[in-house]
Amino acid sequence: MPISATKTNKKTAQLAGTDVAIVQNGDPILRELAQTVPVADITSPKIKKIIADMKAALASQDDGVAIAAPQIGEPLRIFVVSGAVLAHADPKYKGDDIVFINPELTKLSREKHDVEEGCLSVRWLYGKVKRAQKATIRGYDENGKRVLRGASGLLAQVFQHETDHLDGVLFIDKAYDVRDMPPGSEE
Ligand code: ZN
Repeated sequence: MPISATKTNKKTAQLAGTDVAIVQNGDPILRELAQTVPVADITSPKIKKIIADMKAALASQDDGVAIAAPQIGEPLRIFVVSGAVLAHADPKYKGDDIVFINPELTKLSREKHDVEEGCLSVRWLYGKVKRAQKATIRGYDENGKRVLRGASGLLAQVFQHETDHLDGVLFIDKAYDVRDMPPGSEE
C-alpha cells in the first residue's frame, strides 16, 4: 500500500536498483487465495529470498508503506510493512521493516472510518475505503516466532489492506470516490 496521494511527491514508479517487478492489476495472481507458508519453511532459503525481494520491491517505491507476496508474483501468505510507517506511528521507532507470515486478523474495532487508499498494484488509482479504526493481527515473524500485534490508524489500515491481498481482494473492490492520479497530475 502507498501512502495517500496527498502525502507523497510521487516522483516515479520506476524500479530503482532492483529487478523485482510489482505485479499490476489484471494479473490473475492478485485474485488468487494465497497459500499458507508451512511454519518449518519460514526460515528456508526460498522464503528468505522471497522476503528479501519483497523488501527490495517495497523500498523501490517512494510512497510504499507495505507489500504482499502476491504483488511480486508469489502466491504466499506473507506481507511486509515498511519501517517508515512504523516510525510514523512511533517517532522513536528506528527499526527495520516488519514481516508478517500467515497473518490473521483476530479483532477489528466496530468503529470504522473512511480513509484514503491506493495500491502499489493499482497505479494510479486512489479512493476512499471504510476500514476499522483498530485491528489486531496474529501470525509469525520471519524467524518463525509467533507474533500478536494490535494497531490503530494507518497501521491498522495497512493490516486490513494487506490481509485483503492474501485473499485476492483489492482496495478498488471496496472503494468509492475513486480517482486516477498519476504522478504529475495533481494540482
Ligand atoms: Zn495493495
